Amino acid sequence: MDVQRQIEYVVKQGKIDNGPKRVLIVGASGGYGLASRISAAFGCDASTVGVFFERPAVKKRTASAGWYKTAAFTNKAGAKGLYAKNINGDAFSEEVKQAAIALIKKDLGQVDMVVYSLAAPARQLPDGSLVRSTLKPIGESFTGMTIDFNTAELRAISLEPANPLEVADTIRVMGGEDWELWIEAMLEAGVLADGCVTTNYTYIGSKVTWPIYYRGTIGKAKEDLDRAAKALHEPMSRVNGKAHVVVMKGLLTQAASAIPGMSVYLSLLFKAMKRAGTHEGCIEQTTRLFATQLFSAGDLRLDEQARIRMDDLELADDIQAYVQDNWTAVNTASLSELTDFAGYRQAFLELHGFGIEGVDYDADVDPVEDMDLVFGA
Ligand code: NAD
Repeated sequence: MDVQRQIEYVVKQGKIDNGPKRVLIVGASGGYGLASRISAAFGCDASTVGVFFERPAVKKRTASAGWYKTAAFTNKAGAKGLYAKNINGDAFSEEVKQAAIALIKKDLGQVDMVVYSLAAPARQLPDGSLVRSTLKPIGESFTGMTIDFNTAELRAISLEPANPLEVADTIRVMGGEDWELWIEAMLEAGVLADGCVTTNYTYIGSKVTWPIYYRGTIGKAKEDLDRAAKALHEPMSRVNGKAHVVVMKGLLTQAASAIPGMSVYLSLLFKAMKRAGTHEGCIEQTTRLFATQLFSAGDLRLDEQARIRMDDLELADDIQAYVQDNWTAVNTASLSELTDFAGYRQAFLELHGFGIEGVDYDADVDPVEDMDLVFGA
């Protein structure tokens, strides 16, 4: 249902001229990666290879939400005659990189675009050790509010600052190193086409969330993406290609739901943006990115770090003024009036496949949804 809605949105916007025809998406089963795949396939008629880490159904136990979303996408792409193949496995591993390269060589020859949209809690390094990312402030502790999802009550949270190892580990998981490894391996294998573009998504957001996000451990990892994009400049120039970090809007995805304090911010943001008529979801963001930035003849909207800015509407003065004015005023009693907690809650349910109009949740269904995988189970 969610995938169908996203496809319909892209189709309604019309074809994107000069879009990519062969695209690899790393992190393709949810949020911005899935939306990028849908924009590429249904907006540009692109063949797509998706890499993700999802759990299939086992007997009566349901699969993870991203599994069903990818199965739905693959069926709908197939029905339109679009090539779509999937790899379920750990994108950090050499094995999965080589499986994707072999598939591209065999079926597509090369790709015109690589979307790196991974959001992972941990990374297994080549020596077998596991490093974890943390969502913590740096330097001083953070106190803020979060919304208890079940009771709709605001509750105080406080987080101790990260130690240097936690900062370094978060950079290893969510920074740019693995993006560089993918690009290096693909260049070496000759699977990047002339003029290929690669993107990696980042977030900056509002000053009210900076202590926990932009100035926190995850922000340090995101800073590392800017370093990696610069480091990729020379390798990508060998194929006349480009590496872009793109600043996307704050949205509720699986990854974002884990960020402390984000629920209050996003609920206020959704209220202000919906009222202004400027609210966008992942699919609106990726389609606008493709149509007006990456594959348009006009100038790119770049900042001083050469990042493409897609958070323009989120950071508009009137929107941020609303968020900042109400940031400390909001409490349990005023939650439904000042924020769009209802919309936030609905987005949370839909993320996990619940609360979707037209679905009979009492129906007895077989949770097994088969999907052809080139790699993985
Ligand atoms: P998401 O949780 O919706 O999707 C993450 C994807 O990564 C999924 O497809 C998942 O299967 C895949 N994945 C995770 N670990 C993997 C592994 N080891 N191997 C293979 N695949 C793996 O996340 P999202 O919010 O769409 O985030 C994608 C990117 O966009 C991240 O870099 C995030 O920081 C960035 N971003 C998110 C927001 C936001 O508000 N959600 C805003 C700006 C930027």
